[in-house]
Amino acid sequence: MAQRLQSNLSFSEKFSAHYASKFKVGKNCPLRKQVEFSVKENIKCKGFKIDPLGESGAEIESGILQKYKGRLLVLASNECAVHCRFCFRRNTKHKKIDDLPQKLAEILRKDKSIKEVILSGGDPLMLKHSELQAFFSAIPKHLNIRIHSRVPIAMPAKFPPILQSIGSRLIFVVHVNHPNELSKESKRFFERLAQCKATIFNQSVLLKGVNDNAQTLAELSEKLFSQGVLPYYLHSLDRVQGAAHFEVPLSKAKAIFKELKELLPGYLVPKFVREVRGEKSKVWVFS
Ligand code: SF4
Repeated sequence: MAQRLQSNLSFSEKFSAHYASKFKVGKNCPLRKQVEFSVKENIKCKGFKIDPLGESGAEIESGILQKYKGRLLVLASNECAVHCRFCFRRNTKHKKIDDLPQKLAEILRKDKSIKEVILSGGDPLMLKHSELQAFFSAIPKHLNIRIHSRVPIAMPAKFPPILQSIGSRLIFVVHVNHPNELSKESKRFFERLAQCKATIFNQSVLLKGVNDNAQTLAELSEKLFSQGVLPYYLHSLDRVQGAAHFEVPLSKAKAIFKELKELLPGYLVPKFVREVRGEKSKVWVFS
C-alpha cells in the first residue's frame, strides 16, 4: 500500500540569490509575485483544494506515481531551488525515501510497458551527484528520462555534469513563466544541455499579475527560442488552496491565447492545457 502524501500547510518563502538578482523595484515585479508570500494565500476559496490533482491516489509506491500510460513520475527530491507560491504541490510535502531508486528499478523490471521515467519533486537537480546517479542507474538504457526543473533560472551555476551520461534520451523540461527569468546564465545552462544532446522544452503557468498578457508570453517564447528552448505547455492554474489570487478568468485566458497565436509562428505557441484529476492525458483548454 502506497504511503499517502502528507499535508504541509506551511509553505515557507524560498528563493535563491540569483533569482532575487532579477527582481525589479516595486510591488509589481513579476518575479517577486511568484515567490514572495502574500496574505491572499490565507483566504480559503471554494474549489481550491489541498491536493487539486489527486496525486495521492496515483501513487503505485511511495514517491512513484503513474498518471498516464507508459510513463512513471518519480518524486525524486523534496527540495526546490525556489518555492513558487502557486505550486500545486505546495500543501503536500513528501518524505525523502532513501531506497527510491531500488524501488523504481524493481517496478521497471516487472513493468515492460514503461517507456519514459519523469524525475520531478521538488526539483531533481537539487539532489546530490550520487543521488542522481542512483536514479540514472536504476533506469534501463532503452528508456527515456525526463527531468522537470527550475534550476536553470534559479541556480543556473548548478549544472550537474552527470547529465552528459544520458545523451539524447534526456528530455529536459524547464519551468519559466516570465522573460525576466531568463538570463545569460540560463543561456549558458541550456547550451551545456544541448551539448549533452538533450531535447529542451519549457512549461509555464498562466498567472494573474505575472504573465497574463499576450505580449509578455510572446516575448517569453521568443526569448526561450533564442536560448535553445521550445515552448511546450502553457498550463492553466491548478486550483490549489492558497493560490486562488493567481487565477486568470477563462474568458480573459481565451482572449490572451487568441492574441498570442496571432503574434507568433506556430512552433513558438505552447499548447494551452489543464491537468484534470483522473483523465488519461492533459486536456487542451483552447487550441
Ligand atoms: S520548483 Fe516546481 S515543485 Fe518546486 S515549488 Fe516551484 S513549481 Fe513547485
